[in-house]
Amino acid sequence: MSTSEQGSDNEARFYSREGDRVRCSLCPHSCLIADGKRGLCSVREARDGKLFSLIYGLASSVHPDPIEKKPLFHFLPGTTALSFGSIGCNLFCMHCQNFEISRARLGDLDLLPITPGDVVQMAKSAHAKSISWTYNEPTIWHEFTTVASKAAHDSGFRTSYVTNGYIQEEPLRELKGLIDAMNIDVKAFRDEFYKTICGGRLAPVLRACELAHELGIHVELTYLVIPEHNDSEKEIAEFCRWVVDKLAVDVPVHFSAFHPDYKLTNVPSTPGKTLSVAHGIAKGAGLEFVYLGNIFAGERDDTFCPKCGTRVIDRDGFWVRSTNLNGDKCGKCGASLNLQT
Ligand code: SF4
Repeated sequence: MSTSEQGSDNEARFYSREGDRVRCSLCPHSCLIADGKRGLCSVREARDGKLFSLIYGLASSVHPDPIEKKPLFHFLPGTTALSFGSIGCNLFCMHCQNFEISRARLGDLDLLPITPGDVVQMAKSAHAKSISWTYNEPTIWHEFTTVASKAAHDSGFRTSYVTNGYIQEEPLRELKGLIDAMNIDVKAFRDEFYKTICGGRLAPVLRACELAHELGIHVELTYLVIPEHNDSEKEIAEFCRWVVDKLAVDVPVHFSAFHPDYKLTNVPSTPGKTLSVAHGIAKGAGLEFVYLGNIFAGERDDTFCPKCGTRVIDRDGFWVRSTNLNGDKCGKCGASLNLQT
């Protein structure tokens, strides 16, 4: 049996024993797992009263990406993030764009065995500035991403998560000092959407966003706008109000266009007008950095100084064309841009 079929035996963190079963406390599902069975994410297995991660050091995908592709627009702009993913997910979104890996089970795909040292060496070879845990949900890869992120930091690399924010408080707190930036999906601002489309709940995601921000992790948010599902002006206004009230006006927000995928193929793509309306609502709510993605965005993928209006980062899609910065500040007036360079 190959490594990718049998999985990598590594004792999981964040679980406790309950009788002859184990309770996983990594994500809000809190799965109670019988001996020989796996949690909802399919990559954590109970055996003899212990819980094991089956994907420790197993990658499905490794690729150098512009950091803007995450999207992270205020974190090391214009640099390469060597990006790693494994398999599995703890949400079950009907519109998942990475379902080939998020829904894969051990044995479905050839997985590449990697060590934290490999991660560092690959990042050096790729001339990356950072390592990104992405493609599938990094929360469920916690045991490996934390150890490899420590190795990355020790070698001078920065780190990021592209995450659904479905994580419990204790493991999230452990990411402080290991993960420098997060792009967190807020998939809708109604619990009903999370229940019916994603198999999760909204409140834990919002709490994770707030806690990550409190912990000093650089946070950017992505809201994928899906026609007739989460695109009402009321819902988007409530989301923006929450960002202003619970996070900060300088938290970057990315509104992204939906395209039919996976099990949500009967829903049309998001019209550009809908994204324009969302952009206007967010700016009207006081958000300083609002971007559009997955669509021709014009200047709405550029960064403007909130104080003097200067275009400080000129982008063409995922590519930085030019900047007008003085370190991490506006090159003209010196205003703060919530930017890490
Ligand atoms: S990480 Fe996996 S096993 Fe643990 S609670 Fe979440 S879905 Fe269940």
